[in-house]
Order: sequence, then structure tokens, then C-alpha cells
Amino acid sequence: MVIGWAGMRGVVTLAAAFILPPQTPQRVVLVLAAFVVVAGTLVLQGTTLPMLVRRMGLPGPDPAQDALQEAALLHDMVRVALVRLDEITTDNDPPEVVQGLRNRLQGRTDAAWEQLGRQSALNETPSDAYRRLRLDLLQVEREHCLKARDTGAADDVVLRRVLERLDVEESMLDRDEEEPAQDDRELRAPASLAEACKHLAHGWRDIPASSEDTCAACIEEGLTWVHLRMCLKCGNVACCDSSVGKHADKHFRDTRHPVMRSYEPGESWRWCFVDKQLG
Ligand SMILES: [Zn+2]
Ligand SMILES: [Zn+2]
Ligand SMILES: [Zn+2]
Repeated sequence: MVIGWAGMRGVVTLAAAFILPPQTPQRVVLVLAAFVVVAGTLVLQGTTLPMLVRRMGLPGPDPAQDALQEAALLHDMVRVALVRLDEITTDNDPPEVVQGLRNRLQGRTDAAWEQLGRQSALNETPSDAYRRLRLDLLQVEREHCLKARDTGAADDVVLRRVLERLDVEESMLDRDEEEPAQDDRELRAPASLAEACKHLAHGWRDIPASSEDTCAACIEEGLTWVHLRMCLKCGNVACCDSSVGKHADKHFRDTRHPVMRSYEPGESWRWCFVDKQLG
């Protein structure tokens, strides 16, 4: 019903009217009629759509939920890409290039996970810091480029190409800046996801957390952390993969306890380390 209401069927009508042969009698009138009908329905339906959705009590889009699924999907994509990277690299490929590729892939997933739990992060996340520093540098680079234009030190074609590069990079930074709107709903993964994994489907009992709001391993090593995770098997609270210590992952590797949950306020999504799956 909502899709029917929102559908852009008008485009077809208008297009049909425009391709009428020029010698069609009354062509102008037909095109005008089509335009009026299309514009009328667009305005009427467009302006009443939000009311209709509210009236029907449909849930709105949930940016936090989308961010969670986006992070899980990116995580998976990067995992596949890293496997592929191992397959295609040879001894002839410069190791620093391969490492650079690895870092970029990892940075992209980390940034996606860092989008979550933002409201509670006391410190700037690593991807926030990257964005802040990079934006400053982009500004300086752009100013230098414009100076080169003013002094005629570079061709127009070259300048345009270089400025375009800066724009592309900046637009990617902006994209990261969209923060999921926070509301009172607790962030969890869709129930359907958990069914495919026996670790997630296991009936985990509520157990006390080893700490209220710290990563004990980080404190011991004098590190700071970004977000916290809790092991569902033993309650161990440790830091996420964006943190230097990556202690939640280390806890899994040491103990093979398979599932953790986010220990950020308002989040209860879980992650199976074994199957690398959200649920
Ligand atoms: Zn699993
Ligand atoms: Zn830690
Ligand atoms: Zn554990």
C-alpha cells in the first residue's frame, strides 16, 4: 500500500506523452494534461505520505540498525578480500604495498564498527581522529592547488583532475560523519540472523560482567580503549578491534569462548567469533 502510494508511476506517463509523434493531434494538450496529472499526484501523494506512514504505525528506518548490519557486511567483505589478497600476492609484490592494502581494508571495517556505540565513547575514536586530521590536510592541499592556479603554475586540466581527487576523498570522509540517530530502542541484530549459527542460537544465561565500564587488560597494559565487549560464556569485559589492545578478540583466541555482546549502553547485539557472524 505504502509502496503503491509512493510509487513514481508518473514518470512513465510523462515519458509516454513526450514520445507521442509530433503530428499527433492535440499533442501539446496531451503533454500538458499528463504533466498536470503527474504533478498533481506527486504533490498530493508526496505530501501526504508521511501522514499515511504515521497513521499505519509502520516503524521508520532505524539508522543504528542499518549501521550495525553495514558493519557486519563490511566485516565479511573485508574478510573475503583479505583471503583473496593472500591468494594473489606473490614474493614479487612489494611487502609494504601488500601491508598498505591490508591496513586500508582493516581501517574500513574498524570505522564501520566505530559508528556504533558513539554516544558512549568518551574519547575520539580512531576513525574520528583520522577524519579530523585528514580534513585539515585536505584543506591545506586544496589551498596550495588554488595558489598554483592563481600563479599559472599548472594547467587547468591538471588542476581540475587534482581538485577532483581531493573532492572524492573529502566526500568519503563526510560519508563517515553521518551519525546514527540515537533513540531509546536497544540495538540488537535481527533475530533471523542468529538461527544460522549454533553458537548464537545457544541459550546463553545472564551472567555478571567482570567489570562495569573498563577493559581490565588495557588498564594493566596502560592502554586506552574505544568500545567494550562482554563474553557471554564467562562475563569477561574487554575492548573491541578498533582498540589497540583488541582484548575481546584476544580473549576468544585464548579461551575459545565463542560469543560476545556489545557492552556499550543501549546495545545488545552479539557476535560469534567462530563463524564471524552477527546475531
Ligand atoms: Zn557461531
Ligand atoms: Zn583492552
Ligand atoms: Zn569468556
